[in-house]
Amino acid sequence: MPRKGYMCLNVPQAVYERIKEEADKRGSTISSLAEQVILENLETQELMKEYGPFLSYVDNSENTIFINDWRLQRIAAVRIQEKQDGSVSLFCELDQSENCVHVGFVFALPKFYKILKEKGIKPRSIR
Ligand SMILES: [Zn+2]
Repeated sequence: MPRKGYMCLNVPQAVYERIKEEADKRGSTISSLAEQVILENLETQELMKEYGPFLSYVDNSENTIFINDWRLQRIAAVRIQEKQDGSVSLFCELDQSENCVHVGFVFALPKFYKILKEKGIKPRSIR
């Protein structure tokens, strides 16, 4: 029985095992990881629906990816930051933020993962 204020969610066994594997790697619980991933994903999708048409990839150099923001008529420089624990985070120079639409856009860009691969970065986790 779920705790008060909580609901059960059924997922196929393969999905459960995939989440469990990732949770173990991160030292997290299955529930909190699933909650975090699902909510982040939904929020990113909502943001992308709203802002996606105004954003486009321009170029990349060194550890920076340049995104054109048509709405602001500005270029956002999003810096790839490698942390000592092997994780990767993104920092938007324009917003001075790790959590803006430009960062969300870069995480959604297949090109971003190609760039990481080219640089030989194999992030154990992306935050
Ligand atoms: Zn930004």
